[in-house]
Amino acid sequence: MARYLGPVCRLCRREGTKLYLKGGRCFSEKCAVTRRPYPPGQHGQGRYKLSEYGLRLREKQKTRRIYGLLEKQFRSYYTQASSVKGRTGEEMINMLERRLDNVVHRSGFAVTRAQARQLVRHNHIHVNGKRVNIPSYRVSPGDKIEVREKSQKIAYVKAALDSAQTRQVPSWVEVDQEKFMATFTSIPPREELNEPMIREQYVVEYYSR
Ligand code: SF4
Repeated sequence: MARYLGPVCRLCRREGTKLYLKGGRCFSEKCAVTRRPYPPGQHGQGRYKLSEYGLRLREKQKTRRIYGLLEKQFRSYYTQASSVKGRTGEEMINMLERRLDNVVHRSGFAVTRAQARQLVRHNHIHVNGKRVNIPSYRVSPGDKIEVREKSQKIAYVKAALDSAQTRQVPSWVEVDQEKFMATFTSIPPREELNEPMIREQYVVEYYSR
């Protein structure tokens, strides 16, 4: 699957909020949202008012960019979510959260989802003892995700784990840092998934208009 390869700070500036796409820099004063808190481009500092449509479009773009997906793949999550029982928005977020690259990031093995995606693609991750190199692989409760033994020496994995110690590990993953292993214990509770704030109802309204 293709992925976005352009500058990422401008994505945060466009959405007007930190999307945490760059790891350590996002927590420093060098963050572009702090330094230039207006949209990118020649007319970024102009005044404009978002239409109803614009509001929904921005929410959709923000959510898509947080998970690092291009439109086609992101939309397919909406299509799948709308075909299952339950609230479409919540189902969609659940599916996104269960992506392997996301779980690797949430477990602290990578500082960003982009880095987690690379770990997965480069065969560094095992799920239940088997190599899985598909970032969109859907993790199920009880699955064990580990950095394979040979890859545990990678400097950026160690650095990511160190920096994860200063942040809170989500309640739905249990991490054993010594063994470089995480267990995905349950489907994430929606109320704990609000950083940065995702308003999935607008995403649903965008696609169902
Ligand atoms: Fe860049 Fe991170 Fe700040 Fe976003 S949050 S603007 S990716 S430094």
